[in-house]
Amino acid sequence: MSEDAFSEQPISSRVVTGLAKISLALKTQAWKEAGQQGLTPTQGQILTLLAQKGDRRLGEIAEALGITPATASDAVKVLVAKGLVVKNRGPGDARAVSLSLTPEGRSEAQRTALWPDFLLAAVESLEPEEQQVFLRGLVKMIAALQEKGYIAPVRMCVTCTFFRPNVHPGTARPHHCAFVDAAFGDGDLQLECADHQPAPLEQARRAL
Ligand code: SF4
Repeated sequence: MSEDAFSEQPISSRVVTGLAKISLALKTQAWKEAGQQGLTPTQGQILTLLAQKGDRRLGEIAEALGITPATASDAVKVLVAKGLVVKNRGPGDARAVSLSLTPEGRSEAQRTALWPDFLLAAVESLEPEEQQVFLRGLVKMIAALQEKGYIAPVRMCVTCTFFRPNVHPGTARPHHCAFVDAAFGDGDLQLECADHQPAPLEQARRAL
């Protein structure tokens, strides 16, 4: 590689290359784990979600995983056919179907939930400050993707009505959550908060 080549390739394209490599590792690992049971990664993610969050309706599963209801429906059909998930119909309302794990589904979920651990170890190899910068960058990227409609809404601080960014300048915890009335720093930014209330996306653009 010539010396000029260092400045020719923008850092943004190398970041994209890096993300693509991590994405490939995620897919490969997910296939390796889920594929042993003949499950797709999406089916594995549904099992994990039901194990972690309890019974869910189809629409809630699609929203949580950022997939279309049709994709979620196809995956659930297979899981039901394999005896890993059951449908529970609400009394008097056939549409109020919630999905829950069978005992076999629960043990399968415990296995498939382990696969992201290899990535967790890689993230933990970063220094705490590097993890904070990385998290902040990820949040900004997710907000940009959400704004363009490439990603399903994420219940994160920067798109939350309770988020007060940089109201404590010059401190280690510059942001504030009006829901719990507490200051917090970049390292505490949430990506899956149960108390999230959506705010206009312009807020996310201004927030960080
Ligand atoms: S309620 Fe949750 S998502 Fe909203 S600002 Fe507070 S911690 Fe963040």
